[in-house]
Parts: sequence; C-alpha cells; structure tokens
Amino acid sequence: MKTDGRLSFEIIRKIVFISIVLVCLLGLGVFASKSEMNYITIRFPDEEEITVLTAKTGVDEILGENHIIVLPDEEVYPSESDKIDFSKTITISKANAKKKIVAEEVESVSSEEILGKYVKIAEKIITEQVEIPYETITKDVSTEGSETKDSVIQQGVNGIKEIKYKVRYQDEVEIDRTVISEEVIKEPVNKIVQISNNITSRAGTRVGGLSPEVIASSADGKEPVVRTLNASAYCSCAKCCGKSNGVTSSGNIAREWHTVAAGSGYPMGTVIYIPAFADQPNGGWFVVEDRGGAISNNKLDVFMGSHQAAIQFGRKNLECYIYYQ
Ligand SMILES: [Zn+2]
Repeated sequence: MKTDGRLSFEIIRKIVFISIVLVCLLGLGVFASKSEMNYITIRFPDEEEITVLTAKTGVDEILGENHIIVLPDEEVYPSESDKIDFSKTITISKANAKKKIVAEEVESVSSEEILGKYVKIAEKIITEQVEIPYETITKDVSTEGSETKDSVIQQGVNGIKEIKYKVRYQDEVEIDRTVISEEVIKEPVNKIVQISNNITSRAGTRVGGLSPEVIASSADGKEPVVRTLNASAYCSCAKCCGKSNGVTSSGNIAREWHTVAAGSGYPMGTVIYIPAFADQPNGGWFVVEDRGGAISNNKLDVFMGSHQAAIQFGRKNLECYIYYQ
C-alpha cells in the first residue's frame, strides 16, 4: 500500500508538470500570433541569403516589397501565391526540369488492329520541331503634342517547340497521328518597340534629371572603386516594387538607363559606370537613386522600362566603376 501511495504521488506530479508545460506552450502560441512583424530569410540561387523584417505574409508581397523578381528558370518555395510558412524562409532556386506536357498514352486494341492481321498497319514515333512565333510589344512612353519615333529596344526571337507524334500507316499511307508529348526547347523572346518623343538631344536639358553626358563629366578626374556586383533588374510595377508609381527612395522618378538601386554602402547620387552597358543610350552611366530591402552591398538592381525586360536581364555579375560623389 505504501508503494501504491508513492506511485500515485508520482503520477500527480507528472500530470502537474505536463499541465504547466501545456499552459506555457499555449501562452507562447498566443504571443506569437499577436506579433505582427516577422523576420523572413530569403535564399537566392547563388546561396546568398538575406533577412528582412516585414509585416507581410504573402510570398509574392514579401518578394515585391524587396524588389525581387523570380525569373522563368527559377522556382520559389513556398510558391508565390502561398503565404509564408512556419520556417519563415523563402527559397529561390534554379528549376531543374523543363516543362513537359506528356499526353496519356492509351493502349487499346482497335478493330483496325485486329484487321491488321489482314491489312498491314505500321506505327512510328516521329519528332517534329515547330517554331513558336515571338510577340511584338509596343511601349508608348511619348507625351502628347510632339513628334514621335519608333525604336526597337529588343529584337524578337522565335522559340522552338518539339512535338512527338505516334503516326500510324496502313500500307505505307499515314492514316492518323496522335500527339504524345510537347516540349518547349527554347522560349520565344518578345520584340519590344518603344514609341518616344523625337527630341534632338541637347546636353544637360533632359527633363527630370541630368543627361548621361553631365553624369559622365561628374566622374572626371575621380578615381573609381572597381567592384564586381551581382546585378538583377526591376521595373516600376507592383510585382517589383509593391507599388507602381515609379517614385524611388530618393524621391526622383525612376528612369530607364539611368536609375540603379544599391545597398546603403552607396550613398544616393553615387555614379556607377558599367562597361557592359556602354552601348546603351546612357553610355553605361548610372546613378544610385533607389534602395531595396534585399540589396546588399555586393548586389545591384538596374531599373528597366518593362517587367519583360527586367526578367530577360536575369542575374549576372557586372564589373562596376563606382564614383562616390
Ligand atoms: Zn516589374
């Protein structure tokens, strides 16, 4: 009987202990659900990762808030339409498999096949490549009342699709074909035509900011810091910026071939020359006019006139000549 008493005391002690643990866990849960800001870790394909503090919970909202675009050959976990999960991590990785639509292969014995014993029916698998025509997108950035000009800012390239057919022949004459699979070998690239005002350019008179000539001359006689930055691109759309008014962190309206967003190590107004863009309208001269939560000091975000152009740019390492002002 004495042992029984000890035993039940032990059990009561265990119950009390478990109850306390449960109450504590419940308390923690309530506390966690009340806090509104979360630290979210974003992992990039290059294995770099950043942590951002946000009140947003949608994956697309968090990426948008931080100027991060997911490229067509990348995938995100959790997916962009999902909310962030308990791991509080968004992982952007290279998609390893191509899209493949495989039609169901139905094996059935038709009357023709039974007749095939008498009429010769042959089957062959045939692969054909067809072109996917590119689309032409027109962007009108002109203002009313003055002459305009069209300029091709991106050449269109047709894509390629591979289609596999099962073709049946009766006495060497094709009698039917069924699509077994379709695979996009190469995505088409849109042709982009920009309609803009036909202004004869005079140095220093460009509305809304300095001309590339003036920016380049501001670097005269200065010693640049040369650094390779991992560059991506963004546009003024809500997907890239979480808003779509084009107003940068510096207050200026973002301009294509002018504005770049950089980390806090590059003060607003810092001039950056990028040789890879030397043949662009700005001759490769950019000005730091924007920030982004995901932009560390070894990253750079180049402003582009369209979302399509931003996606096509992708991510690349660029040699940058930095002129601190
Ligand atoms: Zn965009």
